[in-house]
Amino acid sequence: MKKIYDIVVIGGGVIGSSIAYNLVNDGFDGNILVIEKDPSYQFASTTLSAGGVREQFSLPENIRLSQYGLSIFENFDEIMDLDGDPAHAEFKQHGYLFLANEKNWPMIRKNYEIQKALGAHVSLLPVDDLRKLIPHMLTDDLIGGCFGSRDGYLDPYGVLQGYIKKGKILGVEYLYEEVTGIEVTRKKIEGVTTDKGTQIRCGIVVNAAGPYASVVGKMAGIDLPVDPVRKMAYVFDPKIKFDYDLPLVIDTDGLLYFRHESGKTILTGKSIHDEQPGYNFEWDRDYFMDVVWPQVAERVPTFDTAKLIRGWAGLYAMNRLDGNAIIGHIGDIQGLYGAVGFSGHGLQQSPAIGKCVSELIQFGKYQTIDLSCFSFGRFKTGKLVFEEEMV
Ligand SMILES: Cc1cc2nc3c(=O)[nH]c(=O)nc-3n(C[C@H](O)[C@H](O)[C@H](O)COP(=O)(O)OP(=O)(O)OC[C@H]3O[C@@H](n4cnc5c(N)ncnc54)[C@H](O)[C@@H]3O)c2cc1C
Repeated sequence: MKKIYDIVVIGGGVIGSSIAYNLVNDGFDGNILVIEKDPSYQFASTTLSAGGVREQFSLPENIRLSQYGLSIFENFDEIMDLDGDPAHAEFKQHGYLFLANEKNWPMIRKNYEIQKALGAHVSLLPVDDLRKLIPHMLTDDLIGGCFGSRDGYLDPYGVLQGYIKKGKILGVEYLYEEVTGIEVTRKKIEGVTTDKGTQIRCGIVVNAAGPYASVVGKMAGIDLPVDPVRKMAYVFDPKIKFDYDLPLVIDTDGLLYFRHESGKTILTGKSIHDEQPGYNFEWDRDYFMDVVWPQVAERVPTFDTAKLIRGWAGLYAMNRLDGNAIIGHIGDIQGLYGAVGFSGHGLQQSPAIGKCVSELIQFGKYQTIDLSCFSFGRFKTGKLVFEEEMV
């Protein structure tokens, strides 16, 4: 291992690994080191994610980010192929369905128009079509839904491994230590230090530390408004299996979702609205029994007879000011970049974030998608950006 690198990426999850891969893939000829504290990725948001990819957002930039992601995920296994050994994103395009009642219908309709204008593969479905799509679902309280036919879900671990392995082949180096310090001299990045005492000099640092973004930000004296917030997911085995594939369904509250997992089991979850920030990886069985299961079985009555197989808790990196990502230069420190605060959609945005951050670093401006609305500077100017379709 060298002691001098051009770029150090802190955090080797899907965002950091995509940035590193895109840099080398786009022709960056300097040295890149990704520093990752947990090679097992046991607690990374990436591996604990539900793997959903959708074009259905309210912000044009979020729609474009996912559209770019879709174009990559549709060919991911070939793009990340290593000498005839394909990657394993396991991307299943079974669609995404947002259910609508009187209350959320105006929002769904409005955002549908925005998505359509950007070429998204979405359609507004009347209740009859919802019944045809999911015959087992109760629709009494619904007035329709929005279906994204290009959307779907994938294997987050397979995507992460794809980026890591291809990046390494192309020359990205990984160091499995924890960054504990960032050296800044006269407002300029000088290097980083790790828990093992390793000192690395570099001119550019990218903070891609996921739910630890604000901890890493503080190492450079920057206060990032990103909190770790627990999200739980569950897999249950329903007695009655469907002979069709479920899309990823979002219920009318915008909090509960469910989709098929392998063997026609069901993956589900429901955000707790007032979950307090913290590094809490405990999953709560009672929350499934008392809240999630009753609601999902009310929507699909045959789910009433089922066995809980497993559950887990992972962390969203939540931007507490406007809920959206923070991308690009961070503060007035030369050489300090960030790609953090992705809440529940960082996995699907990772291909585009990697590409766009690579462009920003190499060419000084975005080329593929203009992400300046997500700049750190918006917190100073007050130009906050809100996403209505957060799950
Ligand atoms: C339950 C759940 C469901 C989700 N569902 C979806 C979904 O359906 N679709 C979607 O697009 N997104 C989803 N997400 C969100 C998505 O998983 C994240 O936005 C995305 O994985 C963020 O990737 P990341 O690389 O920023 O973070 P991470 O994967 O957490 O990676 C950050 C890495 O930084 C490392 N690190 C931190 N600090 C240091 C340090 N000081 N030194 C070295 N390494 C460090 C960590 O070990 C970690 O591996 C979900 C998340 C959860 C928790």
